[in-house]
Formats: sequence, C-alpha cells, structure tokens
Amino acid sequence: MKKVLVLEDESSIRSFIVINLRRAGYEVVEAETGEEALEKLQEHRDVRVALLDIMLPGIDGFEVCRRIRATNTKIGIIMLTARSQEMDKVTGLMTGADDYVTKPFSPAELTARVDALMRRSGGAAEETSGELRQDPFLLNTRNRTLEKNGQRIKLTQMEYSIMRMFMENPGKALSREEILDLVWGRDYFGELKIVDVNIRRLRLKIEDNPTNPTYITTVWGYGYKWGF
Ligand code: CA
Repeated sequence: MKKVLVLEDESSIRSFIVINLRRAGYEVVEAETGEEALEKLQEHRDVRVALLDIMLPGIDGFEVCRRIRATNTKIGIIMLTARSQEMDKVTGLMTGADDYVTKPFSPAELTARVDALMRRSGGAAEETSGELRQDPFLLNTRNRTLEKNGQRIKLTQMEYSIMRMFMENPGKALSREEILDLVWGRDYFGELKIVDVNIRRLRLKIEDNPTNPTYITTVWGYGYKWGF
C-alpha cells in the first residue's frame, strides 16, 4: 500500500495535491492542522511519506516534523514551502525533513519527489543483507541501522542512504551531482543544496567534532569523501 499523508490548511492547495497524488496511484490521508495530522498518523501507521505545509493554524509544520521524527525515523517527510521562505527550507531539513517542495509546484514535480522518497522509505526491497563495518562504524543493511562504537545512532532513511553510499565508496571523492544521483535517484528534480544540508545534519550525528569533520570530509569545489 502506497499511502501518503497531506497536511495543508488551504483547501484549494490540498485538493490539488490530493487529486494529483491519487492520479499517480497513491492512497491519500488528508489533514488540515498539525494536530489532526499527528492523530491521523496514529490511525494510519502504514503512511510512508508525509507532505507538511509549514504555515498552519496551531502548531506549525516544523513542530509536526519534529514530533513525527521523535518516534518515527522511517517515514519520508517533504516540507511544502513558499517561495520567499528560503530559510524555512534549511530549518525544515534540520528538524528532520528529507526534502522540500516550493509552492507553486507542478503535479509532475510533486509526484517525482514523493516517488523518490517512497522508494527509500522501505518500499523498495533491500537487495542485500548483512553488515558494513568500518571502525568505529557498523552499518547493518538488513535493519538499516547504524552504530558508532556500539552505540545506536538514529538516522532518517535519507541519512541512512547517504551513510551507506559513503561506506560503499571509502576514500573516493564523490561529486555533489553523483551523490544526488546515487541517493535521490536520477529522476530527482531537486537542487544540489539538499546534498549539503543533509550532509551537514549527518555530520552532527556521526562526527566526533562536527565543526572539524574527519569522517565525511569536504572536497572543495567538488563534493565529499568518506575519508579515513
Ligand atoms: Ca498554510
């Protein structure tokens, strides 16, 4: 079941999104407020991607994102931002969202983003099973979990995919375009900046000193390297 939650208080925008997602084959759960979205997620535990508007009456989309992430790292989260809210995009990603879409967006753009996250939210079968060990890290590709020195680090699905890509390519400089292709998929419409924002967040979780990263190193003017 491909189920998506749509949180948007403006009914015209919500209907536009719902109609297009249904047309693309998704089952849609609708919510008008953040509180309602959190309740619906309790009822519909099989929702795999949530679209969250930011400006809402009551709690805002960031707070909804934070509350979802407190208990659920598996669900894919896309923030719906207005064109003028540049900082909101970054803030949204830092609170645990995987992606953002800027209003107004086309139906094709929206469904491509949802499709991309759906593939990574446990929908696609994991082809391999086992472990990738590079001390102090242990990545379990069956459970999609990461440990550092035996301590579990909670990752979102995107962060997990990035970690796995790095651990499968040790010592190799990867361009931001390559990372976008490998992690988000070739049909992804998004901007390169999303790579930087996700890596910044991942560094906060895995580096000993995130301001002086030693595991994920920057290759200036190019991209990143899993470097030891
Ligand atoms: Ca709104």
